[in-house]
Amino acid sequence: LTELIPVADRLTVNMALMQTLETGMSHRIKSRLDTAQGSAWYELHLSSYAAEEGAQEILAVGRDISAQEATEEQLRHLVTHDGLTGLPNRALLCDRVHMAIAQAPRLKQGFTLLMMDLDGFKKVNDALGHNVGDELLRIASQRVRDVLRSVDTLARVGGDEFVVLLPGIDTEVDVMAMGRRIAAALQSPFDIDDNLLYMTVSIGAAIYPLHGDNQVTLVARADTAMQRAKETGKSRCVVYDQKRVRHPEYDVSLEAAMFEAVRNGEFLLNYQPIMESHTRRIVGFEALMRWLHPDLGLVSPAQFIPMAEDNGLINLLGSWALKTACMQARHFEEAAGWPLRISVNVSPRQFRNDHFLSILDEALALSELPSDQLVLEITEGILMSDPEYAETLLKQISERGVQIAIDDFGTGYSSLAYLKRFPITSLKIDRAFIRDLPSSVKDAAICNVVLSLASHLNLSTVAEGVETHAQLDFLEKQGCDLIQGFFVGRPKHPNEVIKMLQAGSTLSNLGVPRT
Ligand code: C2E
Ligand code: CA
Ligand code: CA
Repeated sequence: LTELIPVADRLTVNMALMQTLETGMSHRIKSRLDTAQGSAWYELHLSSYAAEEGAQEILAVGRDISAQEATEEQLRHLVTHDGLTGLPNRALLCDRVHMAIAQAPRLKQGFTLLMMDLDGFKKVNDALGHNVGDELLRIASQRVRDVLRSVDTLARVGGDEFVVLLPGIDTEVDVMAMGRRIAAALQSPFDIDDNLLYMTVSIGAAIYPLHGDNQVTLVARADTAMQRAKETGKSRCVVYDQKRVRHPEYDVSLEAAMFEAVRNGEFLLNYQPIMESHTRRIVGFEALMRWLHPDLGLVSPAQFIPMAEDNGLINLLGSWALKTACMQARHFEEAAGWPLRISVNVSPRQFRNDHFLSILDEALALSELPSDQLVLEITEGILMSDPEYAETLLKQISERGVQIAIDDFGTGYSSLAYLKRFPITSLKIDRAFIRDLPSSVKDAAICNVVLSLASHLNLSTVAEGVETHAQLDFLEKQGCDLIQGFFVGRPKHPNEVIKMLQAGSTLSNLGVPRT
């Protein structure tokens, strides 16, 4: 029997034979057999029995399972590889990263994860069509694969996003050298359908164990580094740098808990009512994220949102919030009996994510929420850091009918003239200018100016953080359209919101009488 078995499989078979002899129990193994008909996969059933004079013999019964094996192999390949490029997909990459982590102590070496994104790929795809885009991805991945070592894994994890696992490479110098090799491989133009295309690549790197001891953290950090590569001019390789992104109050154990929390579903949304000032009717809600930590209780978004921005989890959390809020809005509307708007906060990193529009479309499609009932709250910073990009994206958002509000207005650049350039629908005046109303002359003047300019620009206005009746009266007189704050209602659990709306929540049951 052993002679029929290819050398590579012999060890396994011999071990099974030994065990069969020692334990007297039968064993079932898979092995190739080189028979006269060629090589084939067999399932071997081994059982031992007592022969003459106390000798033990083994009976091996083989069944040809080549056809089954081939189908399984095909299936394995399908679920672990990307159809377009034939590269490993995210699932296989996960496997290999886990393996690299498991082997690291024995090999006494770390590894690096590179996150790569082709600069401007979307433009090529949009301008020249998917066929050219697909061909570009195929050729680019082939070129990158050619400069990698056989132990490296190049995986395609999204549209034009690739991840490279580099076992044994765990110093910044080696990482940068690899980054340069990859960049060089993509340097010469791509000749596709008579188009000469020049591509560059932005690469972010995270090193194990220096930058993280698990896959989720490493991928998120490589992504952070890649974002930095994009922000600082594209076409470069950047290694993750904790010093650069850490806030002074950064809490490492809280960050670790956060990854856990995503898995355990500890995040939820509360909803704060927004009231129309002249009718005193609830016209919408802002979705505000909460983290219900099993030991710490409610953790404030002021604490975990900046952290999620750093470690990349904001993309996951943000798209969850968007979808959840849109679905929830439909339930609110049913309970209320009139249309309600839902406002969702979008952080800069989400906004820069290539998939933002498709996440938005998905949220609208899943919930069947009319697009003009969705308001995205963004900050001025998003507009100022990359105005061209913001303009294009905001245009695409507003073409869908989705409304756009500038959050925390007054704390940033506050250039209303500049805002004209963007398709914005409303301004939210920051709480800081509302707090000391109506007694503060300065804040009253600021609100006044903002409100009158906003009306010239045809923007609706929301006052944030309204806590007193006097503030409400003042703002209503100045022509502020919408009011949000503890005076109208605190952020509430969705079940409470439904109860409130079913009670016919106009003004009286909110305890907000007209003066
Ligand atoms: P924000 O967008 O300015 O949200 C308004 C904040 O003011 C909320 O704090 C709200 O609870 C609080 N607030 C509302 N009315 C009053 C009031 O009358 N008085 C006072 N003192 N405070 C009031 P919260 O819920 O702690 O959220 C803090 C920030 O976290 C938010 O500020 C927002 O920037 C961010 N955030 C919350 N949820 C999300 C989310 O889903 N995604 C993103 N990207 N950011 C979020
Ligand atoms: Ca907000
Ligand atoms: Ca705000």
